Amino acid sequence: QAKKKGINQVVIYRPHADVETYKKFTLMTDLRKAVQEDELLLHFQPIIQAKSQKIVATEALVRWNHPEWGYIPPNEFISLAEENGFINAIGDWVLYKACQQLKNWQSQGIDPIVMSVNVSAIQFDQDSFVSHVKSVIEETGIDPKYLRLEITENVLVEDYVQVKEKLEQLKKLGVSIALDDFGKGYSSLIYLQHFNIDVLKVDKLFLKEVEENEKSKDLLRTIVELANKLSLEVVIEGVESAPQFEFVKGIGANHIQGFLFSKPLPEEELIPKLYEKYLSLEINKPSPIFEK
Ligand code: C2E
Ligand code: MG
Ligand code: MG
Ligand code: MG
Repeated sequence: QAKKKGINQVVIYRPHADVETYKKFTLMTDLRKAVQEDELLLHFQPIIQAKSQKIVATEALVRWNHPEWGYIPPNEFISLAEENGFINAIGDWVLYKACQQLKNWQSQGIDPIVMSVNVSAIQFDQDSFVSHVKSVIEETGIDPKYLRLEITENVLVEDYVQVKEKLEQLKKLGVSIALDDFGKGYSSLIYLQHFNIDVLKVDKLFLKEVEENEKSKDLLRTIVELANKLSLEVVIEGVESAPQFEFVKGIGANHIQGFLFSKPLPEEELIPKLYEKYLSLEINKPSPIFEK
């Protein structure tokens, strides 16, 4: 639809763009309520040891069940929350809930596994971040060696001295640090040398590349070898097929995360898997809610 405006101005009406703008606007304001009104929830995706197929960790992934718009994926609202600062409230909530859940599983007699929690650069940048992590550990009573914080490269590009100091303080608390989404942006191997990182999470784009481009196989193999040399734990993200799994095992990647073994699951669906401990390939199983 186009309607005439004035003499030679034509405004083109784009319903899609308008809905998107409206949606973004309402989501931004609704984020404030999301935490207060219990609209956020966590799903957990197992991370498994490639050799044994044993669950060694789960990643906590936030979901938003919006009363009007329904399910909003994190990729849509995390960036909005970063824009308006609500990411701090959301991040605090996620960290607390994830630690509480970890404690809860241990009280149920489930073998200890690592809980991996995503931390936004804005959250990390707060002066109070380290003391906040410390108080959550104390309040929930978890053993910090089972808490892992996932940061991304945009954390590391900030003030070098400050970031390094913060990472050291976090390490002193006893938690481990993962570098998430490696290979997605302008990844630099220098970070691996300069910062005290325990785990390298290779972004799922890498495996997609491998499917399309033989050369990227060598690249991925080299990254895994380097990480192994630096005694970094490697998690390959986005393993969706058996051939991909064989490939990443073959190049010496010790941990994987992907739909082949499990999608992120609500707690009640995850619990039986945590008791079983070993995951087998998940092919053609119906998707849990929220995952398309
Ligand atoms: P991420 O931290 O890299 O998390 C992994 C994402 O990859 C998850 O998407 C997961 O569902 C997806 N994934 C895992 N295996 C596969 C696979 O085999 N194939 C495909 N196609 N995807 C797979 P999700 O849950 O939609 O989260 C997207 C991103 O949103 C996360 O990427 C993370 O950057 C951000 N995010 C999620 N929860 C939080 C949170 O609590 N705090 C912050 N700051 N960011 C979060
Ligand atoms: Mg992550
Ligand atoms: Mg990632
Ligand atoms: Mg990420």
